[in-house]
Amino acid sequence: MNVVTTIADVRAAVAAARSRGEAVAFVPTMGALHEGHLSLVDAARRRGGFVVLSIFVNPLQFGPNEDLAKYPRDMAGDTARAAERGTSLVFAPSVDEIYRRERTIEIRPLKFADDWEGASRPGHFTGVLTIVAKLFNIVQPDVAVFGQKDLQQACLVQAMTRELDFPLEVQVEPTVRDSDGLALSSRNQFLSPRERKAALALPRALTRLRAAHRSGVRTGAELERVAEEVLAAEPGIELDYLAVVDTRTFKRARTVGAHAAAIGAVRIGTTRLIDNELLQP
Ligand code: AMP
Repeated sequence: MNVVTTIADVRAAVAAARSRGEAVAFVPTMGALHEGHLSLVDAARRRGGFVVLSIFVNPLQFGPNEDLAKYPRDMAGDTARAAERGTSLVFAPSVDEIYRRERTIEIRPLKFADDWEGASRPGHFTGVLTIVAKLFNIVQPDVAVFGQKDLQQACLVQAMTRELDFPLEVQVEPTVRDSDGLALSSRNQFLSPRERKAALALPRALTRLRAAHRSGVRTGAELERVAEEVLAAEPGIELDYLAVVDTRTFKRARTVGAHAAAIGAVRIGTTRLIDNELLQP
């Protein structure tokens, strides 16, 4: 596995793979790789061909009071894990390599992104879509693999790809969880043992909501109430939002149809965690 840091080197490696007749699959990440990220590499490998993994903590998607400075970084561990999992190429650029000049352009999503993560983190999705568009143009993959863990992000990337005619497929892979049910996240390492126990109320609430949906509850408000009761019983957790939405618009779903998901965000101390469950018909 090669590790490169410049756009020119990625382009050369991808061109060489293409000249060998290989398709290109791409997994963008911010590093501190865990099994969730590595499951995306597995999915990319199942597509066959050349697997590019990027590691870039994108300053543009962090708010001024967010955790950019303390975001976990582990380049040595990351390259070892990526290589072990069969990644072909790691692209780990510096901030200067990516944002070389003064920025005059950004990709800002419309109303789709106003709520939930968009409301709690102003400017976040503009930062995400701008870096994803740049990485798509740098790597020019046939397929890019994202995690369902960040559902609103995955849906926005799919919308951008479709509406701006990027010639690639966006594939979304299921959330990988720890044995206790907590969705894997680079931010979990900030949780103390007691906070981690409190954090489990989020997946528990979503599981309870999904069970209520399976047993026939079909109104969004009623399903939300089921989850909110579970969260309210956990004093160590502060609710940011919990909502049943239509994944095509990310607007609240009054009644649950074919494209519904329950999404949630909580704060535990200084750590913010998100999770979701798709509500299959
Ligand atoms: P990040 O490094 O947090 O920007 O995440 C990079 C990619 O990994 C995104 O597509 C995430 O949705 C995905 N991802 C993060 N955590 C998980 C998880 N627990 N299961 C599956 N995918 C994940």
